[in-house]
Amino acid sequence: MSCGPANDQTMQIAQVVPCTEAEGPGKRFAVWFQGCPLRCPGCCNPEFLPFRGGETKTLGEMTEWMTRARDGSGIEGITLLGGEPFAHAPAAVGLARSARECGLSVMVFSGYTIEELWGRPDPAVGELIGLTDILVDGPYLREQPDTDRRWIGSKNQRIHFLTNRYRFDDQWRRPNTLEIRLVGREISVNGFPAKDAVGLWKGWKRKKPPAPAAAPAAPEHPGSEPK
Ligand code: SF4
Repeated sequence: MSCGPANDQTMQIAQVVPCTEAEGPGKRFAVWFQGCPLRCPGCCNPEFLPFRGGETKTLGEMTEWMTRARDGSGIEGITLLGGEPFAHAPAAVGLARSARECGLSVMVFSGYTIEELWGRPDPAVGELIGLTDILVDGPYLREQPDTDRRWIGSKNQRIHFLTNRYRFDDQWRRPNTLEIRLVGREISVNGFPAKDAVGLWKGWKRKKPPAPAAAPAAPEHPGSEPK
């Protein structure tokens, strides 16, 4: 049974990976919003930048999915990514609140710095910060790739531990993690790839299995085939 609110608030979702170890500590339910107003050169997810597209989901549907991932895969938290989560602040607040009600932690990646976020008048922005355990902030700078901190894209980005649930320990010092999955006929990739591998998989598709050999055609008039 779902533990959060059965709410019909809608949100525009680009992608969900219900159980991943490539987007923060432990196993996590990762949600990419559809739409980001920033344009970091080298962004890994250019298809998530337009605000049109993705799929419309309700908070109730997302909470149910999150609950299934908690009960079936033992996730310890959710991670919100972009697209830009703070450009979807009311929806992100709904998800973060549901996660907390389900006993899950909340991690958010933002292209804005925390100082820029504090200066925003939208109350949902402050509310989302208040519900976040770990905030990774700042734009992705491709000329400063971070190879020392797991899950972090570039050296300028800071990790803010906003509650005492997490701290910077050994798991953050491992190399980055990349997960590649086959979803139907598509390849799905998440995590942070080595610089030279960015985008290599774009357009990969599983080949269709060869069609079975055609059966010999039945004679139109049984009994009249040539002997
Ligand atoms: S903030 Fe994130 S999603 Fe937006 S352009 Fe930068 S890297 Fe891409």
